[in-house]
Order: sequence, then C-alpha cells, then structure tokens
Amino acid sequence: MGRYTGPLCRLCRAEGTKLFLKGKRCLSDKCALDRRSYPPGARGKRVSFRKSNYKIQLREKQKVKRFYGVGEKQFRILFKKSAKKKGVTGENLLCTLELRLDNVIYRMNFAASRAQARQLIRHGHLFVNGRKCSIPSYVLRLEDEISFKEKSGQNDNIKAILEDVKGLVDVPEWLLVDTEKNLGKINSIPTREDVSLAVEEHLIVELYSK
Ligand code: SF4
Repeated sequence: MGRYTGPLCRLCRAEGTKLFLKGKRCLSDKCALDRRSYPPGARGKRVSFRKSNYKIQLREKQKVKRFYGVGEKQFRILFKKSAKKKGVTGENLLCTLELRLDNVIYRMNFAASRAQARQLIRHGHLFVNGRKCSIPSYVLRLEDEISFKEKSGQNDNIKAILEDVKGLVDVPEWLLVDTEKNLGKINSIPTREDVSLAVEEHLIVELYSK
C-alpha cells in the first residue's frame, strides 16, 4: 500500500491518541483530538463492541508506525533486526525508532514535526558527523553529531523554521543541543523510559510472532 495522503488528524482520532503529526497545531487548542475525541467516520460516536485480540494488536502497531512515520515494509525490517538483538524485542524496536535521524531532528527542536524533519533531511540540509545524510531512516549511534549544512544555516526559510520551533518540545536527556550553533549530539542511547508515546509494545511482538 502506498503512502497515506489523507487528513493527518484522522489518524490520531483513529488511534485515540495524539500522534503529533502537525507541528505547533498539535500543542494548541485547535487539535482535532481535543475537540472530537471519538473515532472518525459515520460510526465514530456509536458504542463499540469488544475488540478482538488481533484488532488490539494491530492498532498498537499502527499507532507506533504512524507516530514515527514508518511504512509497513520498513517497520517489519526494523522488527526483525530488533528481534535479533540482545534484550527485549519490543524495547529494542522502540529505541531504534527513537534513534532514527528524522525523530532525532524533531526531538532536538530543529523541525516542527517528524514529517518536516524528513523534508529537511531529504533536501540535503543536514550533516551527520560532518557528512551529508539525506536518509530520514538513518539510525544514529552514540556520540553521532548532527549539524546543518553551512549554506542551509544562512537560508532564510531554514532560519524561519528554527526560530519558529525554538523550545517547542522538551529535549530529552539523551540528546545534547547547542541552540546557538544549531548542533546536536547523541549523548546516550535512549531507553524505554525515553519513549514519549504510550504504547504496549508486547502487543506488536505478539502480532508479528503469529
Ligand atoms: Fe493529531 Fe491533534 Fe496534531 Fe491533529 S492537531 S495531528 S489530532 S495531535
């Protein structure tokens, strides 16, 4: 299936939680989920019947995929890699997703949303350890340094974005950010506690283990 191009707020309403897909709007009283906290569609307000285990597991997976903006194929690959690593598969999966370049750019307050971060990366504005990286799914490592391309730092549009997102979200402790120079660094590897989304990752593991 292709990339979802419909209304983003609909996704939050379908999952019943804020996925923060629209930047500043998500933090304002214009958030659609705050105004209509029931699922979208004609049946949205009706009393729902008991959900099957499969449906509960599927929704949990969809929630994580949509939150991080990852496609099904890529998500499955990440899951397989996480299962091969030492430790708890679900936690490994979430921590790997946290370390994706697009997520890190967003959490460093260099973009208003993960989608905007992906756009900046694809357009070649960002460097990892001094080298251009245009792959939003790139998984960062400890001590990796993120910076803007010198030319991009002078670009009025980029300057406006950085000014607009200043202090938008709290930067987690596993990241170091120099807001003056627009530099960032992976200070430590994120743990399960650093994942801001409320998710029961064991349900995803159960879904993929069938
Ligand atoms: Fe989701 Fe609210 Fe943001 Fe819309 S505004 S994407 S409902 S968090």
